[in-house]
Amino acid sequence: KSQQPVDYLQGLNEEQRDAVESIDGPLLVLAGAGTGKTRVLTTRIAHIINTNRAWPSQILSVTFTNKAAREMKERIEKLVPRLDAMPWMGTFHSIGARILRGHAGLVGLTSSFTILDTDDQIRLIKQLLAVEGIDEKRWPAKLFASMMDGWKNKGLLPKDVSSADSGSYANGMGGKLYYDYQARLKSLNAADFGDLLLECIRLFRENPDVLAEYHRKFKYMLVDEYQDSNVAQYLWLRLLAQGKPAPEANICVVGDDDQSIYGWRGAEVDNILRFEKDFPGAKVIKLERNYRSTANILKAASSIIAFNEGRLGKTLQTDVAEKGEPVAITQVWDSEEEARAIGEEIEQYQRAGEPLNSVAILVRASFQMREFEERFITLGLNYRVIGGPRFYERKEIRDALAYLRLVAQPADDLAFERIINVPKRGIGDATLKMLMETARLQDLPLLSATRSLLETEELKPKQRTTLRSLIGQFDDWAFRAQTLKPFEMIEQILEESGYTDMLSADKSVESEGRKENLKELSRAMEEFETLGGFLEHISLVMDRDSADAADAVTIMTLHGAKGLEFNTVFLPGWEEGTFPSQRTMDESGRAGLEEERRLAYVGITRGRKRVRISAAQNRRIHGLWQSAIPSRFLDELPADAVEVTDTGSSYGGYGYGGGGGAASRFNKTDPFESVYETPGWQRARAQQSSRKSAGPMTIDGDLVARSVDIGNDKSAFAFG
Ligand code: ATP
Ligand code: MG
Repeated sequence: KSQQPVDYLQGLNEEQRDAVESIDGPLLVLAGAGTGKTRVLTTRIAHIINTNRAWPSQILSVTFTNKAAREMKERIEKLVPRLDAMPWMGTFHSIGARILRGHAGLVGLTSSFTILDTDDQIRLIKQLLAVEGIDEKRWPAKLFASMMDGWKNKGLLPKDVSSADSGSYANGMGGKLYYDYQARLKSLNAADFGDLLLECIRLFRENPDVLAEYHRKFKYMLVDEYQDSNVAQYLWLRLLAQGKPAPEANICVVGDDDQSIYGWRGAEVDNILRFEKDFPGAKVIKLERNYRSTANILKAASSIIAFNEGRLGKTLQTDVAEKGEPVAITQVWDSEEEARAIGEEIEQYQRAGEPLNSVAILVRASFQMREFEERFITLGLNYRVIGGPRFYERKEIRDALAYLRLVAQPADDLAFERIINVPKRGIGDATLKMLMETARLQDLPLLSATRSLLETEELKPKQRTTLRSLIGQFDDWAFRAQTLKPFEMIEQILEESGYTDMLSADKSVESEGRKENLKELSRAMEEFETLGGFLEHISLVMDRDSADAADAVTIMTLHGAKGLEFNTVFLPGWEEGTFPSQRTMDESGRAGLEEERRLAYVGITRGRKRVRISAAQNRRIHGLWQSAIPSRFLDELPADAVEVTDTGSSYGGYGYGGGGGAASRFNKTDPFESVYETPGWQRARAQQSSRKSAGPMTIDGDLVARSVDIGNDKSAFAFG
């Protein structure tokens, strides 16, 4: 057939081209930031389709975020002249969900199963704890949730969890709780995020015919950001790749060990090494040319990451001709000044004609975002927050979603419990208990149990009237949901349920914001035709929620920025305790510090032309001013690629002491424990690392720092 050849291979360097054209057999591309790994994957997909090796639907491509999948789709559309369908593209979780829905019956669910969010998960665990009489104060539900998460990330089913693994929780009750939890999920027709892969793995293992179906289906598999895959993801991939003998498996993974930043979520860099073992004869290609950043930026990034031990080792050279601006390091008085200074700079770039889309602010923890948001609102500077305080996790949004879930899926008991008395309907704990008891005895979902109770005389007249009318409303909504658009549904539900009235009656400051958020929710729903489609969407893409069209500065976490690039990147908050995060170092010691350093490497390598780092000398935490110590990472930057300014020096007694070059001051053999000589703040930091504990810190009798507890930043990245 005649085809317009697209010159998609032109412009690739030799190694990239090799990676694109080595189509058959396993392939590992191991290469540093900005070397074109993602570009290779995209071109490879185009190449497979254009050379008629497979239909698009026979290609499975796994990306780390849904946003990355969307971008890949756009690029493939440009590279393939007549594209009649799209490859299977998405995150591990979204693809897992898609497969699971297709065979839900085989794992004890129906295809309309609900995907639980963290909140629901915790509520469910609390119930199980109550049943077992386990003291939740002593054994927090959250702790169990994260243990279970760990098991799921490792691909362990309840039967695989030995009492030794679970021994540390509630005197060995962990295993049983895990078992009960999974059983409860099934009765709710629900899955949590971990299940999307775990249950998929079980599906494949217990049903060889289903697995064989996917072996026939997926002729080629590709995985981006492979260094951040966890064991469950690895097992899932390996099962899917077993359609052919390992040395012939058409699986291509690309990754960079220096960008492995999800260890805390169970990611294992070792998967890279395991790949070559599991797929013997795998071709390994290294890419060394960086097409993204200037020489100065690359130099800064390479210098920092060189302080890590146990790297696989790669070289990185810039292909960008200019040396570019030096990496700027600015010390400011506090985070407010930081936000003000960065806002002003961005306005300057804007006046010089740079689009705001090319500017990003990458923070270590989401609490850092608020200051920028407030400043930008004052300035009238367009911005979008990605990740961060997630829209779909706000209370009012979750309430609204619970109504929708219950309409779509009447067995969704968690949704039922959430809204049964919101707004207040006079359904107290006693009534709820009675409903639950009935549900348990008759093995019914709560909504059906309510119906059944209404047939009896057990309810008090007032409750009976209330519940009868509520049930009537749900029947009515379910009926209307068949014809109305999802956004019309939510508007009617909020009106008729009394939710809107409840907010109007509430005179607090927040309630206005809540109403705006609900308006935003219905706006977000406008593009969906079915309620099911919308609910699926939000359970999967809660972390990507903004309008991409407008020209706006991006504010996001370093974790979320993986794989992206911007002309100008601001990296604020480079202070000890904030970045590197005290919590990570306390929890994981040197390994934690190394992961923080990789995060710094990821941050710097997002920049194409300009990277601007800042550190505040003071930080207000829980209403108290505290001195902050500049991040040790500043010390690890090469003097000849950075430029230091100190706008805050008139306030502070010490400034950034940089410029001397990292190696000269730093004991390279043991960066975690190293001893500093001068200047003062470095000594303070040394004291801090040797003491590690909280409490004030002094230099020559002056108070310079107290302990810095930055709170739970990690949850900002957890799915759901
Ligand atoms: P990261 O590790 O950050 O995910 P990456 O290795 O995936 O980076 P890409 O995002 O694919 O790198 O590429 C980085 C930039 O370099 C992109 O803008 C890409 O278009 C460009 N690029 C890649 N290869 C080439 C090439 N051969 N010629 C010109 N530009 C290229
Ligand atoms: Mg990439």
